[in-house]
Amino acid sequence: MTIPVDTRTIARQTLADAAYGVFIDNTFRPAADGRTFEVTNPATGDLLVSIPDAGAADARAAIDSAAAALPAWAALPAQQRADLLRKAAALMVERKEHLATLMTLEQGKPLTEARGEIVYAASFLTWFAGEAERVYGQIIPASVANKRLMVLRQPVGVVALITPWNFPSAMLTRKLGPALAAGCTAVCKPAEQTPLSALELGRVFIDAGFPPGVVNILPCSDPIPFSDVIFADDRVRKVSFTGSTEVGKILIRSSAATVKRISLELGGNAPFIIFDDADLEAAVKGAIASKFRNNGQTCVCANRIYVQRGIYDRFSARFAEEVGKMRVGNGLLPESVLGPLIDMAARLKVERHISDALAHGAKLMLGGSAMPDDANVPGTFWQPTVLTNVRADMLITQEETFGPVAPLIPFETEEEVIAAANDTPFGLAAYFYTRDVSRVMRVAERLEYGIIGANDALPSTAQAPFGGVKQSGLGREGGSVGIDEYLEVKYLSLGI
Ligand code: ADP
Repeated sequence: MTIPVDTRTIARQTLADAAYGVFIDNTFRPAADGRTFEVTNPATGDLLVSIPDAGAADARAAIDSAAAALPAWAALPAQQRADLLRKAAALMVERKEHLATLMTLEQGKPLTEARGEIVYAASFLTWFAGEAERVYGQIIPASVANKRLMVLRQPVGVVALITPWNFPSAMLTRKLGPALAAGCTAVCKPAEQTPLSALELGRVFIDAGFPPGVVNILPCSDPIPFSDVIFADDRVRKVSFTGSTEVGKILIRSSAATVKRISLELGGNAPFIIFDDADLEAAVKGAIASKFRNNGQTCVCANRIYVQRGIYDRFSARFAEEVGKMRVGNGLLPESVLGPLIDMAARLKVERHISDALAHGAKLMLGGSAMPDDANVPGTFWQPTVLTNVRADMLITQEETFGPVAPLIPFETEEEVIAAANDTPFGLAAYFYTRDVSRVMRVAERLEYGIIGANDALPSTAQAPFGGVKQSGLGREGGSVGIDEYLEVKYLSLGI
C-alpha cells in the first residue's frame, strides 16, 4: 500500500528555515521601505511565504553593490572565477532535492521535471566555467611594420538579468553562468511568481565562496520600479531578459536612454512537423515531450503540430491514446506528470484558444476542460487536450497557447508545410520528424528559426546556442557564443 503524500506537510518542512529577503552584498535583508509580498502555490492556492518586496531604493543599493564588486571580480584570474562557478554547480546538485521541492511548490511542475531543471541549471555554471578559461583575444597582422594590433575581450560591466517563472532556476543560471564567467557582476530580478528558487541560489553563491556584491537578487512584486532604476543607471551596461515579446519590445525602447546592450529571449510559436516517412512512434513520443513539458508552459513547446495527410489519422489516434494516459495533479505527488497552470490568467488563455478553435470547426479528440474542482484545487489544473482539424486562421495557431493543448493540423506537401511553419512573426524553435536525410537538410535550412530539432524534441542544452530570430529575440544563450553577450571587444594598437 502506498502512503498518500501530505503536500502541505512537505511545504511546511521545505520552508521551515526560510529566511528570504532582498539579496544584496551576500546578505538577505528587508526591503528598504519594509514592504513584503506573498508567494503562493499554484497547485493549492496556499500562501507559501511572505517575503520582502524590493523597490527602487533596493535596486539602487544592488547596483551600488554590484558596481563596488566589479573591479576585483573582473580582475580575478579566469580560472578562479571558474573554480567558484564549479563549486556553485556542485552545491546545486548536492541540494537538488530541496531546490526541486521548492521549485515545485512555487511553480507547480512535477518533481521529476524540477529535479531535471536543477541539474540542467547547474550545467550552465559548469559549461561557462569552462568558457571562462577560453576567452581568447586576437593578434592581427598589421599593414605597417611599426605597429602591433591586438584585440582584448573584457567584461561589459554590471549586468541586469530579468527572468520568467517557467524555469525559475535554469533561466537565471543560463544568464548568470556566462555573466560571472566573463567577469561581470549582476543584479537579478526573478519573476514575481517564483522568487524563492532564485533566492535559494543566493545561498548557493554565498556557500560556494563568491565575494559579496558579485550576485544580487531582488524579489519584486512589481517589475516597473526595478526596471526604471536599472535602465536609468549608466553603470548597468547590459540587460538580459527572458519573457514575453510584448515586454521585450518595451525593454528595447527603455535601453535607448543610456544605450545599453540588450539580449532578449522572447516568445515562440513552434511548429512540430511530422512527415509521412517519419518513425511514427518516435514522433508520438517526441510530440508529447515537446508539447507537454512543464504543462505546455515553455517558449519552445510545440504550439502547432502539422501532420502529413498519409499518417494523419494513425498519428492522431496514437497521440491521443498516449496523451490520455498522462496524469494531472499536484507536482509533489509521484504519479503526477502534468502539474497546474501558473495562474488563472494562463487558464483563461487556454480556454479562449480552445473555444475559438471549436467555434471555427476544430474537433475535440481529448480533454477540453478544467479538471473537476475539489477543495485543494484553485482551478489551475487543465485536462491534457487534443484538437484535430485545426487550421491556420484559428487563434491557437497564431498565438503561443502556453498550456496543455495540442492542435493537430493536416498538410499535404513539404512546400506547403514550410510556408505554413514560417508564416508567423516568431522564430524560436521548430521541430520535424522524417527518415529522409536529404529532407532533413532541405527543411532545416528553410525553416526560419533559431533552433531546429530534427527527430529531436528536446534540443536545449548548455553546450549549444539557444535563441530566436524575428520577434523571438536578440542574441544567444549557451554554447560557445553565449559568453560573447557579456564581453566587450577592445582594440589595442601599439606603435613600436
Ligand atoms: P510572462 O508572460 O512569462 O509572465 P513577462 O514578460 O510578463 O512574461 O515576464 C517575464 C519577466 O519580466 C518577469 O520577471 C517580469 O516581472 C518581468 N517584467 C514584466 N514586465 C516588465 C517591465 N515592464 N520591465 C521589466 N521587467 C518586466
